[in-house]
Amino acid sequence: MTEECVARRVEINGIVQGVGFRPFVYKLANRYTLKGEVANTSSGVFIHIEGNKQHIELFCSDISEKKPPLAHITEIDFFDELVNNHRDFTIVDSREQSVMTTLISPDVSVCDDCRRELFDLHDRRFQYPFINCTNCGPRYTIIDDIPYDRPKTSMKHFKMCPLCQAEYDNPANRRFHAQPNACKDCGPHIDLYDNTRQKIATPKPIEKTTKLLKQGCIIAIKGLGGFHLAVDAENDQAVATLRKRKHREEKPFALISLDVESVQSYAKVGSEEEKLLTSPQRPIVLLKKKEPNSIAKAVAPRNCYFGAMLPYTPLHYLLLSHGFTAMVMTSGNMREEPIAIDNNDAFERLSDIADYFLIHNRDIYLRSDDSIVRKTSGDTRFIRRSRGYVPVPVFLNKKVPSILACGAELKNTICLTKANKAFLSQHIGDLENPATYDFFKLTIQHMQRILDVQPEIIAFDLHPDYLSSRYAQEQKDIKKIQIQHHHAHIVSAMAENRIDGPVIGLAFDGTGYGTDGAIWGGEILIADIEKFSRTAHFAYLPMPGSAAAIKEPWRMAVSYLYDAFGQDFWNLDLPVLKAIEADKVKIIVDMIRKKINSPLTSSLGRLFDGIASIVGIRNHVLFEGQAAMELEMLASDQVAGIYDYEWETTDRHKILTRPIIQGVVKDMLQGLHPSVISHKFHQTLIRMFSELCEVIRKENDLNRIILSGGVFQNSLLLTGLINALEKRKFKVFSHSKVPANDGGISLGQAMVAAAVAGK
Ligand code: ZN
Ligand code: ZN
Ligand code: FE
Repeated sequence: MTEECVARRVEINGIVQGVGFRPFVYKLANRYTLKGEVANTSSGVFIHIEGNKQHIELFCSDISEKKPPLAHITEIDFFDELVNNHRDFTIVDSREQSVMTTLISPDVSVCDDCRRELFDLHDRRFQYPFINCTNCGPRYTIIDDIPYDRPKTSMKHFKMCPLCQAEYDNPANRRFHAQPNACKDCGPHIDLYDNTRQKIATPKPIEKTTKLLKQGCIIAIKGLGGFHLAVDAENDQAVATLRKRKHREEKPFALISLDVESVQSYAKVGSEEEKLLTSPQRPIVLLKKKEPNSIAKAVAPRNCYFGAMLPYTPLHYLLLSHGFTAMVMTSGNMREEPIAIDNNDAFERLSDIADYFLIHNRDIYLRSDDSIVRKTSGDTRFIRRSRGYVPVPVFLNKKVPSILACGAELKNTICLTKANKAFLSQHIGDLENPATYDFFKLTIQHMQRILDVQPEIIAFDLHPDYLSSRYAQEQKDIKKIQIQHHHAHIVSAMAENRIDGPVIGLAFDGTGYGTDGAIWGGEILIADIEKFSRTAHFAYLPMPGSAAAIKEPWRMAVSYLYDAFGQDFWNLDLPVLKAIEADKVKIIVDMIRKKINSPLTSSLGRLFDGIASIVGIRNHVLFEGQAAMELEMLASDQVAGIYDYEWETTDRHKILTRPIIQGVVKDMLQGLHPSVISHKFHQTLIRMFSELCEVIRKENDLNRIILSGGVFQNSLLLTGLINALEKRKFKVFSHSKVPANDGGISLGQAMVAAAVAGK
């Protein structure tokens, strides 16, 4: 042969073990008739490859381009080698079985191959609800310890039958070393129960379930990361009953549909949204509603979006193939408790809600809620980052010490760092709920174990009463570092964009404890990773009743009105002053004047609430951020001008709410529609912030802007502000890997702590 024979070594890091990487390499080598070997090492995958030079080039480029869906390559290096004259290509046993430095894959939706087999009458896994392979199936939620091997997962109770074992042992098979590999004969199975825990005798529990759903029953379904509560989404009565029993008045329910076409019958799906819907992570994607649609009105009342997802487990496919446009798939919990994962727990907690239980006997070790995303301004924005994404780390631009960051109080996540990686936990929830706080502690233990991290530093919020802060304070023999909430917000966005400071950081949210003890939330910081200064913020206003002012936006409305008009506000002809009894309003004014239980706040979230109440959208909220969200959704898209705005400059810039409130009230009194007022308010903020940033740029000679905080879930504000700032030639960075809300805070805390400790 005259062909040039060369050899090369390939070293690959990332999520490359337990995801079908070696069989993929094996097949690829055979496709190009190349010889050599592939092995797992302590840091990833090692390949020795030799043969025709052109074929090796193709082989090398295919590794990155055609890698298995679950693989995530962080580094790939090629080295020239001597030709060893290998006779064939082999998968060699790894001598050093230290999987500890490699990454654990998230749970991933059923792959196309498995889905085909699932509906193939002749396949031995026909309609088997636990079909999986190295390219798909449960991972993070079934792992109890490392290395990632069957005995360390909840599959340890199932001994593989000879057929499954043969697949598992065959390097050329799609199920080679697929730890959850199983079939009807040897794997987990499904049973249907009623809510008194009586097993329903039926040979076809899934078919029976779909019949019950069509009759309007509520079914608790055990899924991948926890229980869901499901009803037929087109059945008004069933959806209403679910709301009543779950005590969830208005917060939207998520939908699941068999395919994109079904989703398109009730929502607008752009090409970007379609990519998200069909991605292996299968998040809930927020989509603009189509009107009219056949979905029950109570699924997402007063909301112009549906949250929809496609099936991600074989069971979902089997259920949805029985002709549903959509099913409601909401978390199996009561109010803000963690979702149930254990069968016994589910029967105890969900029997008053569900009529039937479709359960199985594969344990879930760590719960993981569905992730929620939205496409805004060209990027994926996480509202909740959980199943499908966790535990893929955020890759940092340098190595940091091992740190545990405890997150905030609401929408809590924790973060563990290891070398140049930051691992955010799945969504944990609102810690004030005792069961959620237990889950928080469990997640810390669990993640430390499966990531093999022993933190040297614990980072936590400045707020003394956050349970996450108290937890941190209770820990012994560990360095403790407290971090201001909005600094953590800004740094979390800096970390995911891999930039150091200094930057101009716009941190806008509802609540965060300030260094002066006030409640911050409309902050412009000059920040680097280690420190910050507060260069601008909204002028302080009282929050009458403290936490009550968050649940009752009318209290904030009174606070803003009193500030803008003094006692004259009583004469204003506004819906809020008609809706709320004068006696109640008077008490609030007294609280403000006498400074009783009225902490000061600079929160932009509260300003949204207050304006929502003034324009008559709502005076009470049923879930966090509801009023602000409805104000955003109401906004018309016609050009309507802006309100006057003003800031005072002393040692820093203080933005006054007075001129904006006066403008809003004037429009209300003139009978302008709230949708126009909402539009003007958004445009005012965009213009005001970009002008203020211009001033700050000149003062500090900074051109990079970071946008973070829960207010940036508002896509009107986010898109408008990015456009306005970029027009002024700012470099603008926002979140696309972790949530802008408090779900991303733990990442920022960890990064600040690393910088402070490394001084
Ligand atoms: Zn598969
Ligand atoms: Zn089997
Ligand atoms: Fe926040």
